[in-house]
Amino acid sequence: MNIVFVAAEVAPYSKAGGLADVAGSLPQALAPYVDSVQILTPLYGQIDRVKHGIRPTSIKGEITLGEEVIPYALHQSTDKDGLTQIGFISCDRFFQRDGIYTDSDGEGFTDNNLRYFYFQLVVLDLIATGKLQPDILHCNDHHTGLLPVMIKALQLNIKTIFTIHNFLYHGHFSQADLNLLPESIPPLFTMTQWDNYSALLEGIDHSDIVTTVSPGYALELLSGVNVDEHSLKRIRTIEGNFSGIVNGIDTEYWSPEHDNLIPFHFSMDDLEGKRHNKQELLVKSGLEPDLSAPLFGSISRLVENKGFPLIVELLDEFVERGAKFIFLGSGNLEIADQLRRARDKYPAHIAFEDGFNEPLAHLIEAGSDMFLMPSRFEPCGLNQLYSLRYGTIPIVHRTGGLGDTVERWAPDSGTGFIFEPYDIGALKTAMSSAVEIYQSKAEWTDLMLRAMAEDFSWDQSAKQYLRLYNH
Ligand code: ADP
Repeated sequence: MNIVFVAAEVAPYSKAGGLADVAGSLPQALAPYVDSVQILTPLYGQIDRVKHGIRPTSIKGEITLGEEVIPYALHQSTDKDGLTQIGFISCDRFFQRDGIYTDSDGEGFTDNNLRYFYFQLVVLDLIATGKLQPDILHCNDHHTGLLPVMIKALQLNIKTIFTIHNFLYHGHFSQADLNLLPESIPPLFTMTQWDNYSALLEGIDHSDIVTTVSPGYALELLSGVNVDEHSLKRIRTIEGNFSGIVNGIDTEYWSPEHDNLIPFHFSMDDLEGKRHNKQELLVKSGLEPDLSAPLFGSISRLVENKGFPLIVELLDEFVERGAKFIFLGSGNLEIADQLRRARDKYPAHIAFEDGFNEPLAHLIEAGSDMFLMPSRFEPCGLNQLYSLRYGTIPIVHRTGGLGDTVERWAPDSGTGFIFEPYDIGALKTAMSSAVEIYQSKAEWTDLMLRAMAEDFSWDQSAKQYLRLYNH
């Protein structure tokens, strides 16, 4: 069984969010059980070719997009354990830029549709010319949603599986975009109610199997939570072929015992290092180094649906109650401004780093006491899983994967604080409970140990994917 995994971002090479973490770790977890797993992804300008041992291959080709003929070259590397091969598609015109999806001001590139049309046409070309011979093509999110359509239209003997990492992003494209595809691809596309097409829905319509990244999110989508009527109709037609598999995590890369991005290691047997990480985090962030104050961490794309509208309303009150906050994130300028203003108002209590910073993300996981993740919706969420592993207690809204992976605190049970409905009052109650339990060292330590004992390695989830592949 040869698997080809196609994704727009793959950690550690390129990363904007959770898709990259999954694309970087699930194939490795599958590798021992299948004949081969290859990953295909664009070679973005920001990827460090030397550091990752990425070399050019002799494979080259060209893609016709409308009137233009655009060349590509295949580069290659293997992951650090030599388990999976990663093919990088290079194309100066579309991928030789610093950002993955956006420019330095956070604005989406205006040619994103064309960039991912092109990427998918290259994958198809590699298949058509026999350079890739997948039995199963595993596509991810809207950037790869046209591949199942094209495989079906060309009647290739390849099975397709499509994983929805986030239903919010459809990759809408117009008839004019569609006209750029080669004529050999018959038009199997379905228009949405907005007179455009959705690459995400195309992937859903035409794949042999569709999954999403948690059972809770699968249920939400099928019940129409945050789904428009048109999409709901389309997703309901595949109900029998649709399931949720919770994401695993790379337990070596995110390990309090082995993480080489944190200064002090710790484990369930010896938690001392966590205190030192907290001290380091407080000092580094310019916060008052008071180890007894509860420290809330947050690492997130700055977008409304990650719950920032609720968080910012509670900062004054919790700072007055002695709590400290550290935010790391980039994205929406207004949210960044709000966090900056809060930091300027309480420089000893609130820190905010605007940007993408992998080492700081690890230190926040390792050094914070609690992790704030009050997302309005969350397909799976990874940071709450990393938090559990580092004994950093998640505070989450009960939605999607958050509800599936965090267990509500009760005396002697549970791993985090869960609130619903999605409003300021409910979040405040959850944060207050966390602060209250935090005052009891014994209770808090028990809670940390229960969190750290949770197992979110890929093992179980990879087996569920394997079952689907076998099917
Ligand atoms: P999403 O995919 O919606 O962004 P997830 O929780 O599934 O959310 O995954 C987000 C991933 O991106 C996590 O690995 C998180 O640590 C990382 N991340 C998000 N923002 C930043 C940032 N500013 N710096 C470093 N890592 C970040």
